[in-house]
Amino acid sequence: MAMRMSSLFLRTLREDPADAELPGHKLLVRAGYIRRAAPGVYSWLPLGLKVLGKVEEIIREEMNAIGAQEVRFPALLPREPYEATGRWTEYGDNLFRLQDRKGNDMLLGPTHEEMFTLAVKDLYTSYKDLPLALYQVQIKYRDEARPRAGLLRGREFIMKDSYSFDVTDEGLEESYQRHRAAYVRMFDRLGFDYVIVSAMSGAMGGSKSEEFLAVSPHGEDTFVRNDAGTYAANVEAVVIPQAAPVDASGIAAAHVEDTPDTPTIDTLVASLNADHPRADGREWTAADTLKNVIVMLVHPDGTREPLAIGVPGDREVDAKRLEAQVAPAEVGAFEEKDFAAYPSLAKGYIGPGVLGEDKASGIRYVLDPSIAEGTPWVTGADEHGKHVLDLVLGRDFTADGTIQAAEVRDGDPSPDGNGVLRTARGIEMGHIFQLGRKYAEALDLKVLDENGKLVTVTMGSYGVGVSRAVAAVAEGTLDEIGLCWPREVAPADVHVVATGKDPAVFEAAARAVDEMEAAGLEVIYDDREKVSPGVKFKDSELIGVPTIVVFGRGVADGVAEIKDRRSGDKREVALDAIVTETVAEVRGGDRA
Ligand code: ATP
Ligand code: MG
Repeated sequence: MAMRMSSLFLRTLREDPADAELPGHKLLVRAGYIRRAAPGVYSWLPLGLKVLGKVEEIIREEMNAIGAQEVRFPALLPREPYEATGRWTEYGDNLFRLQDRKGNDMLLGPTHEEMFTLAVKDLYTSYKDLPLALYQVQIKYRDEARPRAGLLRGREFIMKDSYSFDVTDEGLEESYQRHRAAYVRMFDRLGFDYVIVSAMSGAMGGSKSEEFLAVSPHGEDTFVRNDAGTYAANVEAVVIPQAAPVDASGIAAAHVEDTPDTPTIDTLVASLNADHPRADGREWTAADTLKNVIVMLVHPDGTREPLAIGVPGDREVDAKRLEAQVAPAEVGAFEEKDFAAYPSLAKGYIGPGVLGEDKASGIRYVLDPSIAEGTPWVTGADEHGKHVLDLVLGRDFTADGTIQAAEVRDGDPSPDGNGVLRTARGIEMGHIFQLGRKYAEALDLKVLDENGKLVTVTMGSYGVGVSRAVAAVAEGTLDEIGLCWPREVAPADVHVVATGKDPAVFEAAARAVDEMEAAGLEVIYDDREKVSPGVKFKDSELIGVPTIVVFGRGVADGVAEIKDRRSGDKREVALDAIVTETVAEVRGGDRA
């Protein structure tokens, strides 16, 4: 049945919703696709549900095509399995926790590795049962710290998650590649610009990991790629190679100098150039200094642990890179009161003299890998107003290790040695990774192998943000006048508009609508009688169905108009050909 605007449960809004920052979010609300129920929690109205259904269908088709089988686990889950894997604690404040009437702890599932693993454990016992791939399309709950941009980051959202089960590492690799290929087809069909980048596996552990990012200036993820196309990574996952050691034999012994009032890199560089010019005549720059940043890690169980990070003074510590490295711990500020607890730290002048597990502060000290052994640095001398010069890594100081946490910048060398990196923003749409045996071990998922020996199963985990995809497609395809859906996910194939008061116009339109439907098209029909043509056109542009067919004054002359929503191109078509022309237009695909 055509969706008739006279009765469709829809009221388009002229005003932007107050809480919406992104154009796509504004339009989805204004065009009547979704409604906010609470921060990060949305209701789906008929048009929204149509688009959601199409996105789900594409995902299901591609999952079924690789032989994955659909199941559905509950969203309401018992605590025990999540306790066994440590995630009851690790998930921290992100987990919605509740109790039943008997006081049993329960949770609203943020992700379902545990349930899938246990189900396979219950039903399967032999290598002959594997490989296996299972998936679900289901509501997830995460009490995100910053719900954002409507469907893009919700606290209730829809995810497709699938899991593969194999006996061998090679089997896992094959399952992974099958999923990867399915994702490529899926994202091609969804119709937006995306990149596949190396990623971190996050709170779920595991090894090989890739993300599918929708390229968008509104994305929360930053990724880098080189021009040659040989390297692409989420900035969190960029691994800067360890700089090779250099010869330090010609470097003077380390010496402490007075550098009064230089608690920042800028003031330090100015003071060095004024009072301690370099012997080689060049100016000091921030890159000659070693900045030591202290943060407070907060572990899921609430324990706090300071961490000192040494980076070249011309770079910042990148909060997201750092968070990815220390997850599941969270990164907090090292506050004034914390300084009081570590009296060896001279704020603004902190140096390797006191940093390190075996030094006065006892604080773990890790360095950016771009800092080469044998290189001299200017850094804090652990006394107010003093810095130490020519302090050589390996000769004069050491650290407890390295960390991939310094910012990565446009123009940095590509870690694969091939050209330089460019940065851009993206929205994480999908994440595939080789989970390995972590959950199978924690939950004791074993099968008998060919030799009758019990072996632990190895798993892959594959997620897609289904509701997020609706928002990302909207965001990536809209224009200045409204939503502009790709055909595969549009809420209908055609939006038929009848204008004016002439009953003949409405009759012609209604007849065409019936015939279009008989030909298999999904139709929105604007049959409203007392609404002006201007309002109807505006609504059709806002709603964003790719083909708009207008029945108006031309009907008297035997013509209607076919309009392409994206290009705005219009053409008049004889009434007796309008249905076949429309069908051809729709079947011909997206002409954009
Ligand atoms: P993000 O880094 O954006 O928080 P994530 O790493 O937590 O994502 P996964 O746990 O891998 O995401 O979840 C799989 C997919 O679910 C993601 O790729 C994303 O598309 C989607 N997703 C995750 N969190 C949300 C959310 N809060 N709202 C909507 N979709 C989400
Ligand atoms: Mg997340």
